Amino acid sequence: MRRRLAAGNWKMNGSRAALAEIAALAEAFPAPASEIVLCPPATLLAPAAARAEGTALRLGGQDCHPEPRGAHTGDIAAPMLAEAGAAYVILGHSERRADHGETSAQVRAKAAAAQDAGLTAIVCVGESLAERDAGETLSIVGAQMAESIPEDATAEALVLAYEPVWAIGTGRTATSAQIAEVHDFMRAELTRRFGAGTGDAVRLLYGGSVKGANAAEIFATSNVDGALVGGASLTAADFGPIVAAL
Ligand code: 13P
Repeated sequence: MRRRLAAGNWKMNGSRAALAEIAALAEAFPAPASEIVLCPPATLLAPAAARAEGTALRLGGQDCHPEPRGAHTGDIAAPMLAEAGAAYVILGHSERRADHGETSAQVRAKAAAAQDAGLTAIVCVGESLAERDAGETLSIVGAQMAESIPEDATAEALVLAYEPVWAIGTGRTATSAQIAEVHDFMRAELTRRFGAGTGDAVRLLYGGSVKGANAAEIFATSNVDGALVGGASLTAADFGPIVAAL
């Protein structure tokens, strides 16, 4: 049985004042049946972890470097995220692929580093609108999965997030049928590559304009085990209803 998961990606948003949202969320869900993860900017990770201590909330980073240390100005290593209180790290988000030219090969190296540091990687995949219109959705997602997921991935160290680029921050959510097609495909691909045990146990999240009003329908969709939420994860008032719908 896969434990459901709501992960919030704060992206480059939030300040110390936003830590109050963590306290409010923790108070609203003292003993959640599902897992709740918040991924604030790296500068807020340690104070967020202090705020979340003793609660059911877990924390994550938004990126890590493939190396555990070294001369890489401005980068953050996976063990540093773990030391700051993270249990998760988002990797290969389309915004990083676009803003920083991140390749799937780099994402795979980062995912391996995350696994070595004891973090669970939330690896993101998803097609652009042009790719969907060209009928390439499954081949793009399949290629991203093949190239981004390490060979020794486990269900503890890997969560896969399907985030169609055209649905991120646009208010345009994929339909249940579109989500089901991709998630069923991802499940089959994982099972083919890693066998039934791991393939069946890896959690699959949908991301892209998830909000309280559409969460229940998305969570009722085939092979959807939760959500990766951007804008609607910034406040407890917006994220709470999504967690409650899990
Ligand atoms: P929105 O929920 O703001 O569309 O962002 C989705 C996302 O990119 C989460 O990683």
